[in-house]
Amino acid sequence: MPARRTIGVDLGGTKLLAGAVDPRLGVHHRVQRTVTGLRQRALLDVAVDAVAEARESAGAEVAAVGFGLPALIDRRTGKVVVGVHTPLANLVFADVMAERLGLPVFVDNDGNNSALAEHRAGAARGVSEAIVLTLGTGIGGGLILGGQLYRGARGGAGELGHMEIDFDGNLDDDNCPGRGCAEMFASGRALEREATRLAAERPDSGLARALATGRTLAGPLVTELAHDGDPAAIEAVELIGARLGVVITSLVNIFNPQVIVVGGGVIAAGELLLAPARAVVAARTFPFFSEELRILPARFGVEAGMIGAAALAYDGLAELEAAAR
Ligand SMILES: [Zn+2]
Repeated sequence: MPARRTIGVDLGGTKLLAGAVDPRLGVHHRVQRTVTGLRQRALLDVAVDAVAEARESAGAEVAAVGFGLPALIDRRTGKVVVGVHTPLANLVFADVMAERLGLPVFVDNDGNNSALAEHRAGAARGVSEAIVLTLGTGIGGGLILGGQLYRGARGGAGELGHMEIDFDGNLDDDNCPGRGCAEMFASGRALEREATRLAAERPDSGLARALATGRTLAGPLVTELAHDGDPAAIEAVELIGARLGVVITSLVNIFNPQVIVVGGGVIAAGELLLAPARAVVAARTFPFFSEELRILPARFGVEAGMIGAAALAYDGLAELEAAAR
């Protein structure tokens, strides 16, 4: 069988990352584009152009393209139902892109793709029950159940950031009707909010000094200050970690996984985030669940969604080939 590749594309609200990926999920060529504020037509043009560039440089035949979108996608119709930060609602995305690219195209939610990448070749490799949580601006995720990505009735399963953990909380920021969603408490945005609050309470802290210079206390800056030893920044990260532990506790009680993988930008905080999460899980769930549970950082960083999209394309090809036999 000749060498072949798929192209994985992770299409976020601000940037697109594409890569030519081999069957063992090694990345051979990367393409990045900024897509902030683009309307639908321009966004699709950028995606087609990025795939063309990755295809030219792939070094082997490209057999299919996989996409990850920050959206709910109806698997029965292929329609993008809610395009969070992305102007793709009501588009039958895979069909439109297949037509334009002249290749089979497969599409899934970005969190599902990240979970697929971690399960196939990352921190959850070889495990039958795993949950992947992606802590970025919001919280995404995916469920590996019985060794398979679990997609639910219409394809929307795994929206772990929209787990409701408050009875009467604030409306979610993320174009979601929920009130009291987990991502309001434990995401990168929540870290920024808590760090800003702590900066006001502690005028002598590194957080307050950074704020006074006109900087926004976004997740990466808070994480940097925490790694540098600023007690207020450490407290902000630990608070988010403890809340993450509450979210993980619920997931552990429901799914009894072997591994929880934590990825996304916020995991740059590493053990500052995971240690308090583990402590909360150990304290709040049955030892029966926690004894054999591992809570691990993701293997793949910003490329998880792109690599998972390529894995999705290999899965889709295998299904097409099985159906043709
Ligand atoms: Zn929500």
